[in-house]
Amino acid sequence: MKAHDGMYIGGEWRAAAGTDTIAVVNPADEQVIAHVPAGVAEDVDAAVFAAHEAFPAWAATPPAERAARIAALRDVLVARKDEIAETVTAELGAPLQFSQMVHAGVPILVAGSYAELAASYAFEEKVGNSTVYAEPVGVVGAITPWNYPLHQIVAKVAPALAAGCTVVLKPAEDTPLTAQLFAEAVHEAGIPAGVFNLVTGLGPVAGQALAEHPGVDLVSFTGSTAVGKQIGATAGAAVKRVALELGGKSANVILPSADLAKAVGVGIANVMGNSGQTCSAWTRMLVHTSQYDEAVALAAEAAAKYGDRIGPLVNAKQHTRVRGYIEKGVAEGARLVVGGPEAPCEQGYFVSPTVFADVTPEMTIAQEEIFGPVVSIIRYEDEGDALRIANGTVYGLAGAVWAADDAEAVAFARRMDTGQVDINGGRFNPLAPFGGYKQSGVGRELGAHGLSEYLQTKSLQF
Ligand code: NAP
Ligand code: MG
Repeated sequence: MKAHDGMYIGGEWRAAAGTDTIAVVNPADEQVIAHVPAGVAEDVDAAVFAAHEAFPAWAATPPAERAARIAALRDVLVARKDEIAETVTAELGAPLQFSQMVHAGVPILVAGSYAELAASYAFEEKVGNSTVYAEPVGVVGAITPWNYPLHQIVAKVAPALAAGCTVVLKPAEDTPLTAQLFAEAVHEAGIPAGVFNLVTGLGPVAGQALAEHPGVDLVSFTGSTAVGKQIGATAGAAVKRVALELGGKSANVILPSADLAKAVGVGIANVMGNSGQTCSAWTRMLVHTSQYDEAVALAAEAAAKYGDRIGPLVNAKQHTRVRGYIEKGVAEGARLVVGGPEAPCEQGYFVSPTVFADVTPEMTIAQEEIFGPVVSIIRYEDEGDALRIANGTVYGLAGAVWAADDAEAVAFARRMDTGQVDINGGRFNPLAPFGGYKQSGVGRELGAHGLSEYLQTKSLQF
């Protein structure tokens, strides 16, 4: 695959400071498809300097003009959507149709939403005898994971640019080609030099240098809890703004009055999409004891249909990790209904769609984020029990509630300690704030709430 051998800094592809490279591997066949430079602190320095230089002019650019540039970026993503889908499929392994619909499609929606928000947002308001201005925070350090390579980038960069911030991005080492393609799109869209900068590299090297850089005013991170805690501590010590999106262990709560077949079918599809590598996936299915056996049978049937339709996991480490969790589920006494820890293919990091029944709330597979195609079906006795189980993890990112009518589901959802809940299969809304309660994180992405993360207020009194 096509790859740049430099960093996108100050509006051009510049030679990397070091000579080390990262091999990009196709997880479906384990072949190396490209190499990208492994950035070091000097590359991060240069990128932060460029972002700092570009900040005053971009911050002073009228919101309508920033909106026009983001709309142009959206148009480039539309024009290159097939290439985006092919690139994500090559480096992440997602089936091409899923890459087209989700990996290319969603970022186009989100970029479009920020083109509109940049133009319509109230960056100035009157409060009594004051005028309150919403001003950009400054230089943003964005650190993104590989699970939705382009979405995770656009969900940070589009609102940052709409706010008037400038950005340095350190994308995941597993999916740098999508990030390079995004940098090309930024360039084609006529976004001024230095407003967006890209440094590819390893987390503990380039990522850490970016998070610690004194020239960065706000760090936005999505990824593991372990790294997120470290980044939060670093930002705290420097009194720096920080946004953390750290994954989840979300509950799909099926109340007894619900359409069971639909709730189970949608729930299984929700986890199997992207091979279970979705932070908001409903990996715990909560079913009333009276419907438990029927739900398990329906889930087994639905999951088995995914057999050869899901892609591999992203890399060898995740392959080992996810299969380890499946082994742990068996060892702790959960009942394997479909799937299992054996690799279904000799080549590629594939894991079979897996469903566990007789999972108790305290088991490891019911508590920890697995990040693979694994669903745990948990039994509850009454609504109070269901609520205790739903809220009984350190996470609180997403969830679902199913009932005969929306009002019953809403009453339950309002008591869940979680940031986003789909009611009776509610549709994705690119304007709805996304982010976690508890250890799922700090801050929100998407829509106007996502934009306000990149703003700070100044009030003038008259
Ligand atoms: P990760 O290491 O937290 O990766 C996220 C991003 O942080 C990557 O760009 C990574 O770079 C970077 N990074 C790593 N160490 C860093 C450091 N010390 N300072 C600054 N940046 C650093 O996550 P992972 O290893 O890819 O995945 C592990 C687990 O995290 C998964 O199994 C899953 O449970 C969870 N996860 C959650 C999400 C989510 O959407 N919330 C996404 C992915 C993974 P490298 O790419 O070089 O590591
Ligand atoms: Mg990592």
